[in-house]
Amino acid sequence: MKKNGVHYNKQKLIKMLSLIVAIIIIIFAGEIFYDNLLSKNVKIKDKKIATTYSSNGSMEIEKYENVPEVKDEKIVSNKNNKINNNKELSKDKQVNSKKDNEENLDKNKEQVSDKDNIDSNKDKEESVDKKIAYLTFDDGPSAIVTPKVLDVLKAYDIKATFFVLGKNVEENPNIFKRIIEEGHGIANHSYSHNYKQVYNSVESFTEEIRKTNETIDKVAGKKMNTKAFRFPGGSFEKKKEYKEAVKNLGMEFYDWNCLNGDAEGHNVSKESLVEKVKKTAGNQKKLIILMHDTNAKITTVDALSETIEYLRDKGYEFRILE
Ligand SMILES: [Zn+2]
Repeated sequence: MKKNGVHYNKQKLIKMLSLIVAIIIIIFAGEIFYDNLLSKNVKIKDKKIATTYSSNGSMEIEKYENVPEVKDEKIVSNKNNKINNNKELSKDKQVNSKKDNEENLDKNKEQVSDKDNIDSNKDKEESVDKKIAYLTFDDGPSAIVTPKVLDVLKAYDIKATFFVLGKNVEENPNIFKRIIEEGHGIANHSYSHNYKQVYNSVESFTEEIRKTNETIDKVAGKKMNTKAFRFPGGSFEKKKEYKEAVKNLGMEFYDWNCLNGDAEGHNVSKESLVEKVKKTAGNQKKLIILMHDTNAKITTVDALSETIEYLRDKGYEFRILE
């Protein structure tokens, strides 16, 4: 029994070992198969991640480069569906991946070059972008103040822009002609400056501008082709239709980003007029300075020399709006 028992046990042991070996082989084979499946899934997932990220910056490209080489035909590209050779596929994949990376790099380059363009434009602007001051006088021409303004401008050899009213051009034709003769800019500021009339409707608004341009040409005795307009009271809260009406006339409107405050009362002191210009000019490179040349604005003339000297000393060049 003992011998048999041993013999029996030996046979049983061999059977069991065989079974264990068989199980191990099955498990091992199964694992290889499963691994293969799993790895494809992982790679699909990675590819998706990589694709998502690769449309963005350099960090994403780095991630893209780390994506394992994919051997699944479907993943590589629809173009490669006919290719079955894994080697070729992986080669193609490398090409694709390289191409994608190049595209991404190109994209980055584009972004960089866009940035460069912006920078260079900025540089260009900054080099060209001198400090410019546009002195503008509204509501004239007037019989007393406008000639005095012209005298000061002449003394400094500076050109300004006069936003004239059609009715005042008709009233003071010779002063208006002097503005033109002395090389200043002529701009349109409506005919009547009467808010109720000007802003009664788009039609009346357009007519105010048109009539003023007509008066300008008539008094000047030549076609002035006036392009600049300023809304009485500024464009700030004006309806879109009015702004479009200006454009439809082939004109541009200008507000201001600096002022002497001469509209804030009668006979505002010379000191406060100059101070207001300094304060509102700040560090702006381009200044459109609002002033008035109606007969009531005599202190504007008084403050003009000091205002010009201040701006000149700050490095501003004087230009006209046309
Ligand atoms: Zn005005």
